Amino acid sequence: MIAPTTLPAIRAASVPVVPLISLDQLWFQVSGTVCNLRCRHCFISCSPDNHAFWFMSREMVHKVLEESAAMNVQEYYFTGGEPFMNNEMEEILEDTLRFGPATVLTNATLFTPRRVEELSELCAKSPHRLELRVSIDGPSPEINDPIRGEGTFERAMAGVGAAVAVGFRPIITAMQSWPGEQMPCMLQAFRDALGAVGYDNPRLKILPPLLIGEEAERNRGYTPCERVTHEMLHGYDLGQLLCTSARLVTATGVYACPILLDYPSARLANTLTEAVGIDAPLGEAACYTCYTNGAICSNATTGVEPDAGCCGG
Ligand code: SF4
Ligand code: SF4
Repeated sequence: MIAPTTLPAIRAASVPVVPLISLDQLWFQVSGTVCNLRCRHCFISCSPDNHAFWFMSREMVHKVLEESAAMNVQEYYFTGGEPFMNNEMEEILEDTLRFGPATVLTNATLFTPRRVEELSELCAKSPHRLELRVSIDGPSPEINDPIRGEGTFERAMAGVGAAVAVGFRPIITAMQSWPGEQMPCMLQAFRDALGAVGYDNPRLKILPPLLIGEEAERNRGYTPCERVTHEMLHGYDLGQLLCTSARLVTATGVYACPILLDYPSARLANTLTEAVGIDAPLGEAACYTCYTNGAICSNATTGVEPDAGCCGG
């Protein structure tokens, strides 16, 4: 009979792990868990008063950029919370674009004509491209606002329009909250709505829900069967999992990926150099969504992308 005290160790050992194959993506939780919105599906429950993770300073980010310089990073990503709540965001991007291409995940509600003009100027003088990824969870206020908050559709669309006016072609991301058979209509409705703010042939990325954080309350949590097992990894393309090609740096440590910020099991190390040598455990239920849907955090868009240009066209 197995002594009860050894059971936790056996359970921990049974969790599948995956190595970092190459550090293609380096993510920064640059605004911690602080956001100007309070979305009902936020998988890390960000809000104006969630201070579980705090902002990263320009100095903190710069140190990690230097640490990453020899690691062949292909793209730097900035997320939160809302990255533009960080009042050093533009300086952070200026520093980052000396090291490589950057993508900012934003809700676009803080975009003003002046801010996007400054971003465009920054992009124009930088050796690398800057991408904007904007979250809008439906092609109308009726679909988006119950999830993201009253008035957020209009504010985000105004932000997208301002960004497009200075030459950006943002990737518009939406969590799928509609039945699969409605997808063609939804995509067309997105194209129509975005066309109305001057964004033709938009880049669209539809994401599956991650059933953790607020979304577990709004929708449902994972069932006990929805877990990644050792058997499921036989013959599986590990490159589909973000944690084989990325790490997330926060103000207080380095994590396996940007999805599992609330899970201590995903905190790998204090420093990036340490974290790249540590396997990522796939023991959390959200790993099941990565496994079944593949590269959900990448910049790859839904369907045919007519022109993948970035700022400045
Ligand atoms: S989903 Fe994005 S915009 Fe909404 S609360 Fe979370 S971080 Fe903020
Ligand atoms: S949530 Fe996805 S990216 Fe993160 S550790 Fe699990 S499988 Fe990897």
